Amino acid sequence: MLSQAEVREIRKEFPILTTKVGDKPLVYLDNAATTQKPRQVIEAEANYYLTANANPHRGAHKLANMATELYENCRRQVAKFLHAYRVNEIVFTKGATESLNLLAYTLAPRLEPGDEILISILEHHANLIPWQYIARERGAKLRYLYLDEKLELDWSDYLAKLNEQTKIVSLTACSNVTGTRPDLSKYFAKAKEFGAVCITDSTQLIPHAPFDVRELGADFAVCSSHKIYGPMGTGVLWGRYELLESMPPYHYGGDMIESVDEQSACFARPASRFEAGTVNVGGVVGLGAALDFVSEIGLENIDEYERHLTELALEAVAQIKGCQLFSVAGTSPAYLRGAVVPFSYEGIHPHDVATVLNEQGVAVRAGHHCAEPLHRHLGVNSTCRASFSFYNTEEEVERFIEALTAVPKLMGLR
Ligand code: PMP
Repeated sequence: MLSQAEVREIRKEFPILTTKVGDKPLVYLDNAATTQKPRQVIEAEANYYLTANANPHRGAHKLANMATELYENCRRQVAKFLHAYRVNEIVFTKGATESLNLLAYTLAPRLEPGDEILISILEHHANLIPWQYIARERGAKLRYLYLDEKLELDWSDYLAKLNEQTKIVSLTACSNVTGTRPDLSKYFAKAKEFGAVCITDSTQLIPHAPFDVRELGADFAVCSSHKIYGPMGTGVLWGRYELLESMPPYHYGGDMIESVDEQSACFARPASRFEAGTVNVGGVVGLGAALDFVSEIGLENIDEYERHLTELALEAVAQIKGCQLFSVAGTSPAYLRGAVVPFSYEGIHPHDVATVLNEQGVAVRAGHHCAEPLHRHLGVNSTCRASFSFYNTEEEVERFIEALTAVPKLMGLR
């Protein structure tokens, strides 16, 4: 496992982590919302603008060729990172949200009235609202898979809901609230028996653990660069090439065509078909640098260390009087869970808890974390969430627990 000395070395690459909140050093525990960026990522993006900026794919001049090469190299890199079958299965988007909208809109023509889309109650709004919209437009039905008492997906509920009408199954690879990490290969293998298209929202898994689209047996996976130490405004859609090739474009305009007549156009093949307009080369280059950064630490190491921090925090929060956890259950060291600790404090609003923690330098998030149906299902309006990265230290977990324990006192409540 990563040692505290190694973590301290890694932290030196993240200038923002030296921020002070008043006179207190920042403890950044909002990594599920966005991760901080290492110097390497910031420099890669700056360097692109300093030395290679041009509109790619269109020019014959030196800078345009450099921009094209950088962009296409990153596509190759992402393909390798996700274990895609082909490089052109990687489509760059603005983020996971755009990737999921792209899928909803371009898969919609396949849906007939009465068809079903199956998602889980764990889903982030990004993997929920596009399906609500498309289901309504096509007369299809949006169905939900619920949870067992451990907050795992309920397999028997899944078996009961899968049927010949199920055309799309879209499931999170890791919940941004409960940390549930379903065994997706099992879920997708079953869905394939009914011929459903299998999608995973892997936004919260990819920064924390090895990820292999082939092992999963998925058809599509989406993620966001900013959750994996890369720049904001960049995301990825991976899809099986045969499926991408059978789908219409999502956006129309420059760079996504083979040829254009006055009344019609012949569209380019994937991935270009889905990348209309000027692309975000700087963001993609930053994402490439971020993937190098995490690969150097090693995703197995990251997973092991972050689960260690998460379990330290979970055990400690469970001991605090008045705190209730909403985390997926399971305590063995090998237990797979996301690096999130969701909790509430009896009688204190989560926003007040987060505000008081901020005064102690501790950054956590409060709200429904873009998972309102999940919160309703859990019987609460909102929660607080601490979320961890490999750059967090054991000492930071202690500072978080100390501050959390003191919240009622700091508020003058008890
Ligand atoms: N899915 C999950 C599980 C997420 O946590 C998030 C971001 N909170 C998204 C999708 C959407 O990502 P983005 O806002 O970067 O598009």
